[in-house]
Amino acid sequence: MRRRRVTLLAGGVGGAKMAEGFAALADVELTVIGNVADDEAFHGLWVSPDIDTVTYTLAGLINRDQGWGVADEAGRALEVLKTLGEDTWMFLGDRDFGLHIHRTARRARGERPSVIARDVARAFGVEAEIVLPTDDRVQTKVETDAGWIGFQDYFVRQQCAPEVKALRYDGIEAARPTPEALAALAGADLIVIAPSNPLVSIRPILGIPGIAEAVKQAAAPVVAVSPLIAGRVVKGPADRMMAALGHRVDAVGIAEIYAGLAGSLVIDEADAALAGGVRAAGPEPVIRPTLMTDLAGKRRLAGEILALCPEPVA
Ligand code: GDP
Ligand code: CA
Repeated sequence: MRRRRVTLLAGGVGGAKMAEGFAALADVELTVIGNVADDEAFHGLWVSPDIDTVTYTLAGLINRDQGWGVADEAGRALEVLKTLGEDTWMFLGDRDFGLHIHRTARRARGERPSVIARDVARAFGVEAEIVLPTDDRVQTKVETDAGWIGFQDYFVRQQCAPEVKALRYDGIEAARPTPEALAALAGADLIVIAPSNPLVSIRPILGIPGIAEAVKQAAAPVVAVSPLIAGRVVKGPADRMMAALGHRVDAVGIAEIYAGLAGSLVIDEADAALAGGVRAAGPEPVIRPTLMTDLAGKRRLAGEILALCPEPVA
């Protein structure tokens, strides 16, 4: 029997954990459609944090303690930039700089960003396909009391402290989906929406014209995984963001966001009491332990999600 094609929509850290689980299943051919809306230029270099987190994780290069960045990293280049008077609040390690230099040089030569991302993943030994949802520029902006700021300014420099009044995704209306992303959705046996931030990781993927439509039109079942456990995030600002933007901050709020798109929503055992509310919102609730603390846990959850998918016919 051929391997099952799983297409995963993923942000950074939460998405990469789910990706690692599927990558560990021998009978899965994994394609990850990542988020490019966190991308930003630093020191003249194009940095793509969510894509790099997925790449480094699947390559086994990730810093396991923090969940992002390369292990065994140093900050000498950043020290020099600081001495030279540059703003260095965005931590970029020396090894990581190598990747940003490479990506920026190739982009300057006019290469498609998705081709660069694919080649980088292969060069690092990643077996899964890493696909960009668009080759165009889409950037999340956050409205705070101090006005509109860039996503990394909010996330890294200000440590998610400001209250979020609104979000926008600059460039998204004019962005075109990549043929690779559309093909990965159309050809999937199973489409999974990772337990990523629904508002700043998944929405800027689904909001690219043609992507949500391709998810809806795909023959494959669509399973989302809740990033909220007992009404709280494992990490990051998704819960506060959801509250600030008028969403219910629990698995039902996640079900409401993915209603019409996901046929089922995996919710944590701690949220079993919310199953009725999830079903009323649209998706069929599937109750499983969803906290991924080690590779065995990631793999177990991925296997349980795969078990929801029918065997491929051809
Ligand atoms: P970012 O781009 O690095 O912020 O990462 P993502 O958007 O991919 O993921 C952030 C979300 O992942 C947060 O809302 C977390 O609650 C969620 N998350 C992280 N680890 C886990 C986990 O083990 N299980 C579940 N269910 N959610 C998780
Ligand atoms: Ca991110």
